[in-house]
Amino acid sequence: MKIRVYRMLKQTKMAGPGNRFCLWVQGCSRHCRGCMATETWTHHGGRLINTAELFKLICAAPHIEGVTFLGGEPFEQPSALAELAANIKSQGLSLTVFTGFTYEELRAANNAEYHNLLGYTDLLIDGAFVQAQFDLSRPWVGSKNQQYRFLTNRYSKADISNIKNQIEVRIATNGTVLVNGMGDFSQIKTLLQEN
Ligand code: SF4
Repeated sequence: MKIRVYRMLKQTKMAGPGNRFCLWVQGCSRHCRGCMATETWTHHGGRLINTAELFKLICAAPHIEGVTFLGGEPFEQPSALAELAANIKSQGLSLTVFTGFTYEELRAANNAEYHNLLGYTDLLIDGAFVQAQFDLSRPWVGSKNQQYRFLTNRYSKADISNIKNQIEVRIATNGTVLVNGMGDFSQIKTLLQEN
């Protein structure tokens, strides 16, 4: 199966507990006001990549404790992501998934593919970004309505209680600047434009 991918990072500490391989999927129908990843909305962008190829890249990533799926909306590509998730879990790696749906919505949808992906998820970070509830006081999320759902005993509230929201800035050799994590992106944009 293939996954439409927006981008990947071999390792970062900006999206879930510990050091993680991050996979941003391409495509999100939700279109939240104030979304910081509007480039991921279209279902025609990004790159279609085979799950086997992605799994190979994940296995080659150095010193990771898990993988994070984010987007875009992972639950708009649940079957292919569940296939990849099964392989990830077989290696003892943990899985964090960000979604604009609430856990209750995913459960109530009675959708076997959603259920399958949830079955591999250790930590689900749920709820769409709501600009009116903007809040950067908790790790990896930008609004108060978003919640941490510990679906297995791999992680607990204690594992994340001391983690602060952070941003990392990567500068490629060609000068491209990549900002990753959760923070006030408008302020960062202004700072980068000033320099
Ligand atoms: S669910 Fe996430 S990616 Fe989709 S529009 Fe909302 S904030 Fe953006």
